[in-house]
Amino acid sequence: MTTDSTPIETTDGFHLVIDALKLNGLDTIFTVPGIPITDLTRMAQAEGMRVISFRHEQHAGNAATAAGFLTQKPGIALTVSAPGFLNGLTALTNATTNCFPMILISGSSEREIVDLQQGDYEEMDQLAIAKPLCKAAFRVLHAQDIGVGIARAIRAAVSGRPGGVYLDLPAKLFSQTMDAAAGKKSLIKVVDAAPRQLPAPESVQRALDLLKGAKRPLILLGKGAAYAQADADIRALVERSGIPYLPMSMAKGLLPDTHEQSASAARSYVLAEADVVLLVGARLNWLLSHGKGKTWGGDKAAERQFIQIDIAPTEMDSNVPIAAPLVGDIGSCVAALLTGMGSNWAKPPAEWTGAVNERRIKNLAKMAETLALNPPVMNFHSALNAIRNVVKANPEAIVVNEGANTLDFARSIVDMYLPRKRLDVGTWGIMGIGMGFSVAAAVVTGKPVIAIEGDSAFGFSGMEVETICRYNLPVCVVVFNNNGIYRGIDQNPTGGPDVAPTVFVKNARYDLMMTAFGGVGVHATTPAELQKALEEAVASGKPTLINAVIDETAGTESGRITSLNPSAGKKK
Ligand code: ADP
Ligand code: MG
Repeated sequence: MTTDSTPIETTDGFHLVIDALKLNGLDTIFTVPGIPITDLTRMAQAEGMRVISFRHEQHAGNAATAAGFLTQKPGIALTVSAPGFLNGLTALTNATTNCFPMILISGSSEREIVDLQQGDYEEMDQLAIAKPLCKAAFRVLHAQDIGVGIARAIRAAVSGRPGGVYLDLPAKLFSQTMDAAAGKKSLIKVVDAAPRQLPAPESVQRALDLLKGAKRPLILLGKGAAYAQADADIRALVERSGIPYLPMSMAKGLLPDTHEQSASAARSYVLAEADVVLLVGARLNWLLSHGKGKTWGGDKAAERQFIQIDIAPTEMDSNVPIAAPLVGDIGSCVAALLTGMGSNWAKPPAEWTGAVNERRIKNLAKMAETLALNPPVMNFHSALNAIRNVVKANPEAIVVNEGANTLDFARSIVDMYLPRKRLDVGTWGIMGIGMGFSVAAAVVTGKPVIAIEGDSAFGFSGMEVETICRYNLPVCVVVFNNNGIYRGIDQNPTGGPDVAPTVFVKNARYDLMMTAFGGVGVHATTPAELQKALEEAVASGKPTLINAVIDETAGTESGRITSLNPSAGKKK
């Protein structure tokens, strides 16, 4: 307030949040508007940010998560208080579990009322609830602290092991005003948000010594390696060392899956036989049978030695002893290994690489035979063969994949050729990421997206086809419709009127969901129809949904993780 005629320029909480994000190169918000953040979404758009509005917060959160993985910048999800906040938490937790940077920003009710539990609109102590689910959680109460709050959230999300961060912004904050110049000064442009972390020279030497003595070495690339964007050095490490490598699902494409050193087609053999395993941004969790047991050759596991590259020191020895821990960022660690290897590093014994190669070629030939079959009713293999052809012709397309059988088969059948082109259910095996990940991939990269979806998995986020149509995104969803979860043939043993819990409406027309919003819908019953429709969708960039009719008897219970079912083995 001033009494002279020139008013002091002021800013407010809304604009400080927007300016702080923009100052740090964060130009996209994934959201569902509502109290108290509706105006924030409007003003962000008015200030030139891309604001993508969803139908449910979980998918906005998933989109932010995928954006974080693809860009190394925290994806931003923005929700309303209590219920909207809770809807965003699955994504926040999933981001943390997968080590992807994202920031969930939620509006919240007034502290004074919440803390006295006086029954406010959407009352909830959101900060306390978010804390155990994410890497860090902050609340900002004063407009002048918004700059610090956003800077801390960014650093927490991307530095060290990346993860999800929660930022709590009470409704009152947005309308707080302050002097515009002071406001501008209060913002922080984060310098070097994810500093390189160089490995210790003696750790590098220890790793090289172990690798040098190996008779049957193996490199295992995880999604941390894909995230690190050290693509050229990772490829050089594999090729210069001559060591067979296995990509985890989201590391597919770091080197083309058709690479002659890829041991994917000899996976069980190399895991059981390798004597020294170099893990690059991959954890020895359930996805790798915890580094022990039958998968790893049973008794042979005792003699195996691991080298592990990871930015998180506490990841070491989490499941089995790590003989040579290499703590640092993947780019720096791989570069150090390359330097140490020099130019005349001895390739692994031909006995080993020959044996791996022999199995690889044999198994690839077997797979080619299966893929060439064209059974009267389309099954997972014949449908995925059609998609495989289209991805081969469009290697820049991003593949999103979820489901049970649809996931397991697609992972092994659809080859990837470029880094970070495959997004899937990740560490948790979470269902529901499909449309959120697809939207983010299209928005962030502008490339065509092919979402390969089980019919059940699709259901979790299906309403977001409206979002895809509204923003006219180049997303083609292929629904593998086998009438149910795993399969469509379960019966109600009582003979009662309810269908079995795993069964859906028979012969559903998911393609009509897309046409309802102005997109293209295709009903495909043969691989040829599927391939043609997918080629057209990728070429046109029009939102498309292909209802791919799959043999309802074709699936396996729980896909390839049947062993995790409590009643495994007791099934008929
Ligand atoms: P996957 O499931 O593909 O095996 P994980 O998610 O289990 O991959 O492992 C990824 C690992 O990568 C995590 O332990 C994480 O700490 C690590 N990581 C992520 N980013 C980096 C990075 N830039 N440098 C080093 N390690 C990283
Ligand atoms: Mg199904």
